[in-house]
Amino acid sequence: MEFSFTDEQKMVIKEAKRFAEERLAPDVEELDQKGEVNLTALKELGELGYLGITVPEKYGGVDMGVVVYAGTMLELSKVDAGTAVAVSVHNSLVNEGILKFGTEKQKEEYLPKLTSGDWMSCFSLSEANAGSDPGALQTSAVRKGDSFILNGTKNFTSSGDFADLIIVFAQTDKDKGSRGISAFILKNDTPGFSIGKRENKMGIRSASCTELVFDECEIPADSLLGKENGGLKIALTLLDGGRIGIAAQAVGIAEAALEEAIRYSKERVQFKKSLSKFQAIQFMLAEMATEVELAKTMLYKVAWLKESGKKDFSKEAAMLKLYASEMSHRVCHKALQIHGGYGYMKEYKIERLYRDQRITEIYEGTSEIQKVVIARKILQ
Ligand SMILES: Cc1cc2nc3c(=O)[nH]c(=O)nc-3n(C[C@H](O)[C@H](O)[C@H](O)COP(=O)(O)OP(=O)(O)OC[C@H]3O[C@@H](n4cnc5c(N)ncnc54)[C@H](O)[C@@H]3O)c2cc1C
Repeated sequence: MEFSFTDEQKMVIKEAKRFAEERLAPDVEELDQKGEVNLTALKELGELGYLGITVPEKYGGVDMGVVVYAGTMLELSKVDAGTAVAVSVHNSLVNEGILKFGTEKQKEEYLPKLTSGDWMSCFSLSEANAGSDPGALQTSAVRKGDSFILNGTKNFTSSGDFADLIIVFAQTDKDKGSRGISAFILKNDTPGFSIGKRENKMGIRSASCTELVFDECEIPADSLLGKENGGLKIALTLLDGGRIGIAAQAVGIAEAALEEAIRYSKERVQFKKSLSKFQAIQFMLAEMATEVELAKTMLYKVAWLKESGKKDFSKEAAMLKLYASEMSHRVCHKALQIHGGYGYMKEYKIERLYRDQRITEIYEGTSEIQKVVIARKILQ
């Protein structure tokens, strides 16, 4: 058992940390207030290789593997969890989707544009009546000669309003229910495609979340990603990997909250002592630090499992996402408590971290859905 990063892994993760501190930190509070995306930073991340972390060099990626991806997500999320989610979707759902399920032509056509950051991307599975149960989605894709005609509305799509390339899931055989869903690759300038409502969110406000509308939207039949009617399996396979990114986001937010709490507890004086001198506060900090450490260890273990080629890591990924996101909730809660009333004010970073953390328990499968996955695996 070897518990260390290679020099190259350390360097790339350290560079992500530097980028986050120098290029994301100065703007994050303003973007949070305005609910705006840092498109400039996303382009720069593309130029630096962070939008093609797990993609082989022949398709324009840097091929650094899942451990580096997890470390990068952690460092970016520590500073700006909204920008980090765009990076997560792009790397683990879209790039990985095309890499794993795309034809050679699709890989050559799309991956170089995605890995360079020339094109941003999104992954659109959820609908108003199909969240935890994506098999119930209603958007349809009907074959017409050499085309498919898409009709329907997707909701809650991260990066939906600026993505150049969209992976969308639609029903290709209604009679087959969840076994009649297919995945498609689509450009944002396709006639019949438009962006619907932009959500006004509680947290990760530097990420966008939108409806996508398909109205008689015609795409060539070779836009299919993977096999016709094999879409749900593609979505679920990709979400297993995606959960590593969301867990890293949760750990990054928790680590930032812990650092804020330690700093504040040393500065704030009550009863003529700094808060850090009270054992009640020390115990809270000790519990928080232990939980962050545990989740981080689990994060790198699951990232390593995927990187070393384990075919089925869905149980481990679900356990990781469940634990890391709920750990992050507990840590942010305690960190805000240590800040007292000041933590409730927008001047203090913990107020944003507390809001940003909440989504990690919901997207890419709620905590309850992670438990469904884990229970199914351990009872089979
Ligand atoms: C900010 C944000 C960004 C998002 N980004 C994307 C994206 O990029 N692409 C995309 O496709 N989707 C995205 N989503 C959608 C997200 O994945 C869903 O919101 C999530 O899967 C939950 O679905 P739902 O909101 O419809 O809740 P529901 O499925 O209605 O769930 C409501 C509650 O019921 C519980 N529940 C449901 N089924 C069960 C069950 N079988 N057993 C026990 N409890 C259950 C849930 O855990 C939850 O507590 C995003 C959502 C948000 C809020």
